[in-house]
Amino acid sequence: MLLRHTPKEITERGALTINPAKTCQPVGAMYAALGVHRCLPHSHGSQGCCAYHRSALTRHYDEPIMASTSSFTEGASVFGGMANLLESINNIFTLYDPDIIAVNTTCLSEVIGDDLNQIINRAVSENKIPAGKTVLYASTPSFKGSHVTGYANMLAALARHFAKNTGNRNGDITILPSFIEPSDMAEIKHILSGMGIAYIMYPDTSGVVNAPMDGAFRMYPKGGAPREKIIRSGDSRCALALGRAGTLEAARLLDTKCKVRTEVLELPIGISATDNFVETLIRTAGVTVPESLNVERGRLVDVLCDKAQYVYGKKVSIMGDPDILLGLARFCADAGMRILHIVSGTPAGAEWEKLIKEIAGPGVVVKTGAQADLFYLHQLIQNNKPDILFGNTYCKYIARDMDIPLIRTGFPIYDRVGHSYFPITGYRGGLHLLVRILDAVMDRMDRDSPEESFELVM
Ligand code: SF4
Repeated sequence: MLLRHTPKEITERGALTINPAKTCQPVGAMYAALGVHRCLPHSHGSQGCCAYHRSALTRHYDEPIMASTSSFTEGASVFGGMANLLESINNIFTLYDPDIIAVNTTCLSEVIGDDLNQIINRAVSENKIPAGKTVLYASTPSFKGSHVTGYANMLAALARHFAKNTGNRNGDITILPSFIEPSDMAEIKHILSGMGIAYIMYPDTSGVVNAPMDGAFRMYPKGGAPREKIIRSGDSRCALALGRAGTLEAARLLDTKCKVRTEVLELPIGISATDNFVETLIRTAGVTVPESLNVERGRLVDVLCDKAQYVYGKKVSIMGDPDILLGLARFCADAGMRILHIVSGTPAGAEWEKLIKEIAGPGVVVKTGAQADLFYLHQLIQNNKPDILFGNTYCKYIARDMDIPLIRTGFPIYDRVGHSYFPITGYRGGLHLLVRILDAVMDRMDRDSPEESFELVM
């Protein structure tokens, strides 16, 4: 087995990460930038960094991901990347004609100390940015944080650069989603539209990284939040940030810079979190719940009641990003499952840890940050084996070694399809997630049951 050398005995490690439970900041920054219409992500660093960021996103979404790079070589690494970025900006607008270039930094450009503000101001003064076009940047050093931090930083950069308070409040509710699938963003829009709410959502990667094949190549797919709407978010009546780790900084900016009243909610994963999201919409928008949403909720409750005996008491371990972990933990707790372990490579803070312990109960082991890696998760599982493991593709090695069904959630998922198209948010997403859990449990029962108890009807 690939992981046969992982020892069962756990020793504290201060300065070593083995098989990290995260990817690097620019991956998240690029993903956020892709959720803006006609925006080209640009990686300010070496070609190798950009190739990795693009390949991570391309493999996860099974779509070609467009992004450019400052293409550092030895000279830029020593003397700084200003010349490279200025030339890049010139070339990109000439060749690819985006409306926005969203620059993310990398480890190398951060260590050199490139001043992106100064470089972009220089590009403006040298007329390298055509009229009506924008270049903005987010600082995304990958020697700290994770892809979630990078996503949050780019989202904050969008709010900082575009959102404007003109003094004329509009009736829109701004939605800031955390790092979730395009299918989940589409599901949140489905709930908002169903309730008749005028909204602005950014980023919005639905229709971008899960766009249909129609025979035409589009450098910039039809989806993505329009720039005009992001500007208008500064005048919106309120903003709801869904998932603290991915959105807090942008929510704070809308609050302090534009005086937009903001609330930070959990991602609407599972019944109770979706109920909370819907109730908040009712309160803030003064709308009622449409019958169609009641039906969606009722279906999820129905299947959960019908099949509760298959999930109740099942032991689970969950690896992933803080906002999704919180949602999955609530979902599992709602279904009466027992949560053994929660591991995230993204630092999540004491408040998050306290909350997740309240949800999961006192016996849960929770660890976040650099040493919360897959090696550690494997050790935890060797000492206390769950019935189900939730996590990304990298967890398949643990799942195989320990013979545990793996339900693929989070980022990245390189070896299965469907996550871009079928949500886990909202009531419909909850039903989809529940069906996947039931499939995993029942497949295992079918595999393991002796002949005399091999059931046709379950
Ligand atoms: S961790 Fe740093 S050096 Fe490695 S790909 Fe990410 S930005 Fe580049």
